[in-house]
Amino acid sequence: MTDMSAKTYRAIQVSRPGHLEMVDLPLVPPGPGQVRIRVEACGICHTDAMTVEGGVTDIVYPRVPGHEVVGCIDALGEGVTGWALGRRVGVGFLAGNCGSCAECRRGHFTACRDQRWTGVHHDGGYAEMMLAQANALVSIPDALAAVEAAPLLCAGITVFKALKKSGARPGDIVAIHGVGGLGHLAVQFARKMGFRTVAIARGREKEGPAKALGAHHYINSAGEDAAAALLVLGGARVIVSTVTAPKAISPLVAGLAPHGRLMVVGVGAEPVEISPFALVQNDVSVSGSLTGTTIESEDSLAFSVLQDIRALVETVPLAEARQAYDRMMRNQAQFRIVLTM
Ligand SMILES: [Zn+2]
Ligand SMILES: [Zn+2]
Repeated sequence: MTDMSAKTYRAIQVSRPGHLEMVDLPLVPPGPGQVRIRVEACGICHTDAMTVEGGVTDIVYPRVPGHEVVGCIDALGEGVTGWALGRRVGVGFLAGNCGSCAECRRGHFTACRDQRWTGVHHDGGYAEMMLAQANALVSIPDALAAVEAAPLLCAGITVFKALKKSGARPGDIVAIHGVGGLGHLAVQFARKMGFRTVAIARGREKEGPAKALGAHHYINSAGEDAAAALLVLGGARVIVSTVTAPKAISPLVAGLAPHGRLMVVGVGAEPVEISPFALVQNDVSVSGSLTGTTIESEDSLAFSVLQDIRALVETVPLAEARQAYDRMMRNQAQFRIVLTM
């Protein structure tokens, strides 16, 4: 608990690339259009590396990472309507669209030309308190605890939206590549959306968990040709790749059914190489998908409650964020690590 009389709060900030440290920051009132949130939980996402390691986009340091934030509104800034003190809210990767650029005017809010990113351009949720734009807020259903809801705000909405727009229909073969933070949620969503769900991961270790989460089939990509195994099943209508090792993605294209679609949601640093022959032969397509809008996040939370979909989380106190982040980067997190304040 933060001692409000102290007028400071604890946060884990990146002082310069590669350096995470615990600091006390001054508590400031929310600006116009903002709310202040007393953070209860914040998931650790691979994309946090953008802030922690630096070098991808312009970031002004020091910066507090974290974009899977759940907490309660603690103060309202000028002009904020529709939100009240004490309301349980979440903030994902997108920190609020501008409302006036060409993409916003077309209703493409995730493509806003002036989109800020939580924990990248603004301080995020590795902290006891944070400020957020009111138009970035997601309402959290009572049925979800803060630690359950947090991973759904980035990992969850990312795969939920990709599956919704994938074009797959009930009964279609949908493969989820990677059974980690995003993948273990994608397997559950795919199963509950009515797809014949195939989980693909390296080794046999994830087979039990993937099947327990709803996968009808499991392919060990380290022990067999995953594309050939998909073709034996009939070919994938959709493959959603959640891995951050792009080299592992390329060979899967050959496992798509005619007119199939590879959707990339895992963000690795290297390029994804695709054989033109594989693209042309089966008339397949490759696309990406970026998170979702606030209302789409609320849809994914409601679907998770409706279908009893939950992230498998390991909770870690804020003070141990550095070690938890390092474990996530070494792929040693079981599924999702969530910081608690
Ligand atoms: Zn994320
Ligand atoms: Zn805009």
